[in-house]
Amino acid sequence: MTSFSNLKRKENDLRTAYSKDIDGKVEGRPLLLAGWIEDIRNLGSIVFLIVRDNYGPFQAVVKGDLAKEALALPRQSYISIGGIVKPSSGSKAFDFELITDRITVLNRADSSLPLDATGRVKADMTTMINNRPLALRIPHEKDVIVGKSYLLKAARAHLLSKGFLEVDTPKIISTSSEGGADLFKVDYFGTPAFLAQSPQLYKEELVLGLDHVFEIAHYFRAEKSNTVRHLSEFLSMDMEAALYTKEDAMALLEEIVRKIYEEISSRGLVAIRIDEEAEFPRYSYRELIEFLKSRGYEIKVGDDLTTEHLREFGKEQDGFYFIVNWPLSIKPFYTMPSPQDKLFSESFDLMHKDVEIASGGQRIHDKNMLKQRIIECGLNPNDFEQHLRVFGWGMPPHSGWGVGVDRLLMRLMGKENIRDVVLYPRDAKRLVP
Ligand code: ATP
Ligand code: MN
Repeated sequence: MTSFSNLKRKENDLRTAYSKDIDGKVEGRPLLLAGWIEDIRNLGSIVFLIVRDNYGPFQAVVKGDLAKEALALPRQSYISIGGIVKPSSGSKAFDFELITDRITVLNRADSSLPLDATGRVKADMTTMINNRPLALRIPHEKDVIVGKSYLLKAARAHLLSKGFLEVDTPKIISTSSEGGADLFKVDYFGTPAFLAQSPQLYKEELVLGLDHVFEIAHYFRAEKSNTVRHLSEFLSMDMEAALYTKEDAMALLEEIVRKIYEEISSRGLVAIRIDEEAEFPRYSYRELIEFLKSRGYEIKVGDDLTTEHLREFGKEQDGFYFIVNWPLSIKPFYTMPSPQDKLFSESFDLMHKDVEIASGGQRIHDKNMLKQRIIECGLNPNDFEQHLRVFGWGMPPHSGWGVGVDRLLMRLMGKENIRDVVLYPRDAKRLVP
């Protein structure tokens, strides 16, 4: 660690302030900051350094021997830099600057870096993913991850304020939660086990003892298909609540999306706009079928909606909307049939244009009915014995949903690919970094 100082300060101090503290209130005062050298402009007798810390960039004026030393530093080197705050002369970007009297080089950067951390030279997505820690130096790249943190804060705060308890359930499980084929198998001390694809069965069971629960955790799906909205490991926010109807669950989901939107837009982190007045529109699955038929698609009631169908319908939509009352036959076994028409279900998906953001609905609480549906879905009720027992212990009627956090963030941030909003994405072709 080289240190070249000419001002008496406590020798071990490396930082007494951040870039955000540099303003008229500290004019004439000595400050010590730490950050990465972003730009070096050499005007001969005087050198301007643009240094970035966690809160943004600031400008430092360096003269004499210090200037010579500064000029020799590779960009993105990490320094502690001290000086007196003065109004800046002639800079359009900065009202104040630091008249530097001390620089401590804390870590020299490599002279060649894998991407331009100022963001001026655009890097492609693969380069960003391969070098994520450095890519986060680019302000709009960092905003996405800051946005995720505040998304979770807002969602947690709202759920806790509504009396929900945050729970955590196992991610190593013995049987499939929904009978899906997209499970990752693991060797559990010689016995086959699986990575959880959702907390569905556990969160329903916990309604019995805890009434209103939520969980925010990673789940795993062996998604072979290569799309812009699927990863093999993703973050999901799930809730389940006693005596909630499908309507209650939808209302809560809409509230949460709006709370998240308020939180991150108040920080200038959001790319889209949500109309504060209008409720999210609702369309029944049947209405979508009619719409698609009118557009010449060969589709009938009971068919699942494909990516292409959702793209066609999504084109007509401004933003978020619900699709309700899906056919029972294409929803998982725990889905509650609609009382009016047993071929349909008390289910919904929250969509943003053409992308599914969340699925939810009312669940079956009657043990015999649940067992019957397991059989009808071609599953073996013996595999669900542990789970079914709980429904004989006074299980309340209940509803819930699961939101793909990465997909929600992707759409709020105006990003096209889920890999743009996940720090270290995992897909069929990627297991590093
Ligand atoms: P899709 O039809 O888009 O594959 P799904 O209906 O299989 O999704 P659900 O089981 O309903 O997904 O999971 C709830 C939510 O979790 C989804 O609405 C989605 O936002 C998110 N999700 C599901 N699978 C993935 C994945 N592989 N990668 C990222 N998010 C996912
Ligand atoms: Mn779904």
